[in-house]
This record gives sequence, C-alpha cells and structure tokens, in this order.
Amino acid sequence: MDITREGPAIGIDLGTTNSCVAVVEGNQVTIIHNDQGKFTTPSCIAFTESERLFGEAAKNQAPRNPTNTITDAKRLIGMRFSDPTVQSDIKFWPFRVVAGPKDRPMITVQYQGREMHYFAEEISSMILMKMRQIAEEYLGCPVTNAVITVPAYFNDSQRQATKDAGAIAGLNILRLTNEPTAAAIAYGFGQNDCSRRMKTVLVFDLGGGTVDVSLLIINKGRFEVKATAGDTHLGGEDFDNRMVDYFVEEFKMKHRLDISSNFRALRRLRTACESAKCSLSTAFEAQIHVDVLYEGIDFHSKISRVKFEELNKDLFEKCIDPVGICLKDANVDKESIDDVVLVGGSSRIPKVQMLLQDFFNGKELCKRIHPDEAIAYGAALEAAKLNGNACDQVWEKMQDLVLVDVTPLSLGVQVEDGEMFVIVPRNTPIPTKKEKAFTTYHDNQTTVSIKVYEGERPATFDNNLLGQFKLSGIRRAPRGIPRIIECFEIDENGILTVSAEDTSTQHKEKITITNDKGRLSKKEIDKMMREAEKHKAEDDKYRRRIKAKYQLENYIYEMNNAMVRVNFPPKDRTKIEDAIKRAMRWLERNQQAEPSAFERKLKELETLWNPLTLVG
Ligand code: AMP
Repeated sequence: MDITREGPAIGIDLGTTNSCVAVVEGNQVTIIHNDQGKFTTPSCIAFTESERLFGEAAKNQAPRNPTNTITDAKRLIGMRFSDPTVQSDIKFWPFRVVAGPKDRPMITVQYQGREMHYFAEEISSMILMKMRQIAEEYLGCPVTNAVITVPAYFNDSQRQATKDAGAIAGLNILRLTNEPTAAAIAYGFGQNDCSRRMKTVLVFDLGGGTVDVSLLIINKGRFEVKATAGDTHLGGEDFDNRMVDYFVEEFKMKHRLDISSNFRALRRLRTACESAKCSLSTAFEAQIHVDVLYEGIDFHSKISRVKFEELNKDLFEKCIDPVGICLKDANVDKESIDDVVLVGGSSRIPKVQMLLQDFFNGKELCKRIHPDEAIAYGAALEAAKLNGNACDQVWEKMQDLVLVDVTPLSLGVQVEDGEMFVIVPRNTPIPTKKEKAFTTYHDNQTTVSIKVYEGERPATFDNNLLGQFKLSGIRRAPRGIPRIIECFEIDENGILTVSAEDTSTQHKEKITITNDKGRLSKKEIDKMMREAEKHKAEDDKYRRRIKAKYQLENYIYEMNNAMVRVNFPPKDRTKIEDAIKRAMRWLERNQQAEPSAFERKLKELETLWNPLTLVG
C-alpha cells in the first residue's frame, strides 16, 4: 500500500479489552471520545441477524448474544490453534474457535443467518476500523495514517498479524510501536526534568490480556529501551476467569446445578465478576447480583478483596516475574530505577501494586499518567512526528525524540542436531542487521535448508519456528569450504527479514518471515480488504435503512398528531387519512425495503402534506 502522509495521523492503542485513539492537535494531545462520550472503546464486535455492532453497543448486547459476540481477538492474533494457551482460552470463550488452514485459529459466528469464519486479524481490523471512524467523526476528515501499538513482548508473527489487520482496515501503518515505549513517551512528554537529566524508568503495563515490562533510559528526548520482558497471555481476563470458576463452584454447591457449559449464564456471570473485580480495587468487599442466572435462579453473592487475592495469588506473583527478568537483562539494579510507571487497567489492583512496591523495597510507584490513555497518547505523539503534522511547539519538543526499541526474543537458525544458533540475541536494539557465516555439512552439497526460530531455549524443538527457506545452487566443494552468509535484518516495527547468500556465486535467497508461520498472503489481505469494504457498505446501508424507516414512521406519527390538533377542511382530512393509512400499510409490508424506498415514501407524504399545512 502506498504511504501517503496527507491528513492527520492518529495513535491507536489496540487493546485486548479496550482500545483508545488519540491525535495531536495544536500543541496538545487529544484523547478522542467515542459516540458514547467515553475515551476507551471495548475491543468487542458482535454479529446479529441484521447487522454488525462495535464497541459499547456490542458489549451491551453480549449477554443476549454470547456466541456471536467476539472479544479478546488480540489473544488469538498470530497464534497457532494448537498452542496450549489458545486451547485454554477457548474453554472460557462463549464463541466458537476452530482450526483453520495452517493451524490458524478461526472464529465462527452466525451473521445475517449465515455461518461466517474470521481470522483474528479480521476481527482486529474491524476494531481498528471503528477506532478510525471515531477519529474521523471527531476530526471531520478522512484518516488513513496511524501508529498502532503492540505489546513489547509480541513475537514476530503477532506483529505481522497486527500489521495485516491494519492493512485490512485500510490504514497506512506508519509504525508499530511497543506499548510500554508509547507509555514512556507519554510519561516523558513535557516533563522538564526528563529533558534535563537522564532518567531510568521501568514501565509496568498490566492490561486485560498481557503484562509487559520495559526498562528505558530517557535522556534529552532519547527513549532507549534497554530490556523488555512479559507475558502475552496474562492479565485482567485471567483474574476474571478465576473469579468465574469460584462462583461456578459456589452455584454448584448451593443449587446442585452446573452452569459451566451454559455460555449465556457464564457471560453474564463474567460481566458481574469483572465489575466486582474493579470495585475491589477501592472497596474491601463486592457484591455479585445476576438475576435469573440459570434455570430461573437469581444468583446473589459477595466476595472479599482477601478472597479475590487468594484466588489469584499465583497469577499476581507471576505478573511480577518479568520485572526481575527485565532488570537482569538490562543489567540494572532496582535501586537505580528513578520511577516505576504504572500503565494498563489491571495495574490499579492494590495487591499487584503492593507486590511491585515490595519488589522495589517500598519505593513509591508513579501513577502520574492515565493508565488507560497513556499508550494512545504516546502513539499519537509518535504518529504526529512521523507524519510531520505536529505543530511547532509539539514539534520542538518532539524533534529530539529518538526511540530505540529492542527485540523481545532471541532469533536464530537451526544448526546440526536441532540446536538453536542465536544470531540476534534478545534485547538487541532495533532496527538491526546481523550477519553470520555458515558452511556446508557434506561434500558437494548444493542446497542448504534454513530454518528460522525465535525463543530462548537451546533446542529449536522448544522454540517457535518462524519460517524456512532453501538456498540452492551452491558451488560444489568439499564440506566446510563454501561460505554462506546468513543475514538477519529487523526493521523499526520489529519485523524480520532473513537472507542467505553463497559468497562464491553471489546467489541469494531471502524471506520476510511470512507464510510458513501462517501469515496472510498479499492475496488474502486484498480479499479481506474487499470483504471489509463490503461489510462496511452493508453496515452503512443497514444504518441508512433504519434511519429512513424511522424518519418515515416519525412523519406518519407527526401527521397523525396534527390531525387531532389542526382543523382541516373535510376534503383535505379524507385525503390525509387515506395517505396515512396507505403509508402505514406499506410500512407494515416493507420493513426490509431499500433505504431509497423509505425515502421516496417520505417524499410522497411531504408533497401531499406541505401544501395542505401551509394553507391550514
Ligand atoms: P487495558 O487492557 O489496559 O484496557 O485493561 C483492561 C483490564 O483492566 C480489564 O481486565 C479490566 O477489567 C481491568 N481493570 C480496569 N479497571 C480496573 C480496576 N479499577 N481494578 C481492576 N482491574 C481493572
């Protein structure tokens, strides 16, 4: 896709649970509100008999339509269906996920009476489209350029898949930025002491589905990530799951009924649990009330903060593990940290804060930036800088902004006996290019097969295969003589290209890690873009129909009212009554008519009505 730098550029925090969009306006960052006036929008899409719903509207109808309401697409993006974390997530979701081609998970829903299958990228693209629409409505102009954030700990395939989601949504992705880095920009922006002296900052980001820890050195506008660690499958939703399990057991004990396979009941219980969890961040006890939860039984219970903490003890401790790893990787001791910055909705949980504070020997945590908005805020600043549309004052502050990110996982190739040979160690600053010379194992070997992996384990079997390719046409020679240069190149989005070259023939093969890992091909993306446009057109038509129908109904209603109030001559009265009757009959029979048909009917009534009322 061509990168055009026209128009504003937005920053989108594409979250597991909620998403947020921001833009730089004048000399400040605006967090853009959605149609409900809220600054974050649920990352939720629902499919119904008649339409697709997004955000708040989708979330609100979830209890009635659980199997066709999709959340957590971010937990599936770039993952394999057979991955144990995917298998465990599926158990908690009311919607169906099946194995698609190349072991890719596919979400299955009923939409407009048909069974539809979507990749996680497509669902994410729908969320991105919604965020884009929110921005366009606010700015009053088309928006195509965006910076999208991803967890720092996302691997290559998760990043690729997020980029694909952006492309399907018709966005020019200026950059994929790591969430903690974006949060650090929000933290550092406009803070005078950050521009004056060097600061070592640890960003602790605990959201709905991921925990992400990054250690950055901020020095005169330079944001240098020293190390990053985390877990792409640990967050608020896991805490909700524990509470749901707890109440499922309680319900079983109290009523001898098992609700664990009733999705509607589980969805309603989950909503109540999430709300209780949030209350427990400020209160010591929270109530759970779900009317008619199962077989006509109302469920009322309560949970204390202590119980909630006990249920999640191991998970909360697991959230702190990446902090130690990150400090160790960066070779920084805890005393050297100037600020521990909290980001993400789940960072509000008091027990998590306590564990973190204990880890830093009682150090006060920094709660200065908004945990739900900071990432989009930082992304918007970066977008404005990359797009060159920041105003002078912002530009002045941003022109020194240099982001140095790192690669979260080690990257390498398989050598003999399935051993992992690391070419780019984890936490290497990106963009980067690293080369390594290899040779052949056999005499007269003319082809080598290159298998690219990511991960920290010594055996490739335990790591993640990103892709493989062959270099053929190697000049025949005794083993050990040919020189094959393998080159790993990672761009600023953290996306990897690997090439191999036989130096004697200069024959070169290259892959940007793509299809082996189940990434979408260009053809598939183009097809999905067309589908997305078609869906959008359908949605627009649906809305136009509803609006046109409403306008017609309303007009008939107003005419009826006027008949009571206004004293029309009998001749006109009969004419109007007839027209009203005919229009009502037409409406009854043509509920699904084209929007233009409703508009025509309205015009007909107006043509009759307007001259009469002018006279009357
Ligand atoms: P994020 O991914 O940053 O939008 O965070 C969303 C997660 O934060 C969800 O799991 C929410 O339930 C959780 N969350 C939001 N507010 C609170 C709160 N006050 N206490 C505990 N968890 C919260």
